[in-house]
Amino acid sequence: MNKYIGYRCSKCGEEYPPKEVFYLCPSDGGVLDVILDYEEIRTAIKPENMISSKENSIWRYLPLLPVNDPGYADTPLHSVGCTPVYQPSRLTDEIGLEKLWVKDESSNPSASFKDRASALLIARAKEIDADVIVTASTGNAGAALAGMAAAVGQKAVIFAPKSAPKAKIAQLLVFGARVILVDGSYDDAVELAVQASDEFGWYCRNTGYNPFTAEGKKTASFEIWEQVLLQEKLDKPLSIFVSVGDGNIISGIHKGFKDLAEFGWLEQMPRIFGVQSEGSSAIANAFDAKNEDIRPVSAKTLADSISVDMPSDGLRALRAATETNGAYIRVNDESILEGIASLGQSGIFAEPAAATALSGLVKARELGLIASSDPTLVMVTGSGLKDVQSASRAVSAAPIISPTIEALKEVL
Ligand SMILES: *Cc1c(COP(=O)(O)O)cnc(C)c1O
Ligand SMILES: [Zn+2]
Repeated sequence: MNKYIGYRCSKCGEEYPPKEVFYLCPSDGGVLDVILDYEEIRTAIKPENMISSKENSIWRYLPLLPVNDPGYADTPLHSVGCTPVYQPSRLTDEIGLEKLWVKDESSNPSASFKDRASALLIARAKEIDADVIVTASTGNAGAALAGMAAAVGQKAVIFAPKSAPKAKIAQLLVFGARVILVDGSYDDAVELAVQASDEFGWYCRNTGYNPFTAEGKKTASFEIWEQVLLQEKLDKPLSIFVSVGDGNIISGIHKGFKDLAEFGWLEQMPRIFGVQSEGSSAIANAFDAKNEDIRPVSAKTLADSISVDMPSDGLRALRAATETNGAYIRVNDESILEGIASLGQSGIFAEPAAATALSGLVKARELGLIASSDPTLVMVTGSGLKDVQSASRAVSAAPIISPTIEALKEVL
């Protein structure tokens, strides 16, 4: 079976056959959507085929992905995805909702959502015989690529801003990738990765540049479909909260649901809400201005994973909200830290960018955008262990006492 039939530019709508382009639309630089063979999938595959799969990873959706099985069955490549969804009752009450799900991506092999994209890119790289894969990253995309590359023996080069949290840089180095820290912003690293890709012929995984990253990320929607939508008869559409930097996770999630709708397997399109930090809100600005003109900002937020001047997948990210009756919401760094603490009290440890989605939901309740009867899901995109410095800022410090019962009694 032909696994995909081409690409469609998200800007001009022009279509390209699979072998003609690699990254962006040649005429206007628009990000490309991968077009699956929807007719073929509709006839060849039924939802039951997916639901009955024994594979406990993103590869259970292989017939809906634009790559072939890469193999490597006994590596971390096969433990990406199928992340848990929780229904934390305390948090649900605190926010004042009837139904709340939290999907926790920290159980991915490198502890963030980015593993979904990197796993797919490893498969793609094998198909096109890529020798070296390069990516720019604020840390998580790089760690996801480096870990997966190490697992399968693929060469990888990672550019990250030198300001990335220490844990993320350590993770990159431990995975043994060629790590190069850039004395500049994430946006500078992005530019350098593209130049290096051109210069040395490396295969570029850059988010919102390589059309396949969103194809990996859309698997989260397939899981939400299986774990929530097929389990419960919801009388209102599910509202999904996603933190947004480059906008590729939210675009991928939108693509996943659009694919399901094309297969005829989706009863109701979820509403998708993007959450940005006030200090990095290029897409939220365009949403508020009610146009598609996304202008760069000078990003400054403690949520490093969503600190982006010019989002590389901004247009599709904007449409994920506008086309689904969702919205964009801004939150400040202080409420992001509160989000870390709230999630922690339900046993979920989130990095700042991951807690941003919860903070956005809290704000959306305050603004009246979400009613208590709206079934809601929050994507927690990465583990708190990625940035312990911010985690410590979210809570008060522990008391230090001398090791005696008297001293203990004093603090209790
Ligand atoms: C990358 C990332 C995001 C944002 O994804 P974009 O595609 O850049 O919008 C959110 N949270 C975490 C933990 C991330 O690593
Ligand atoms: Zn175009």
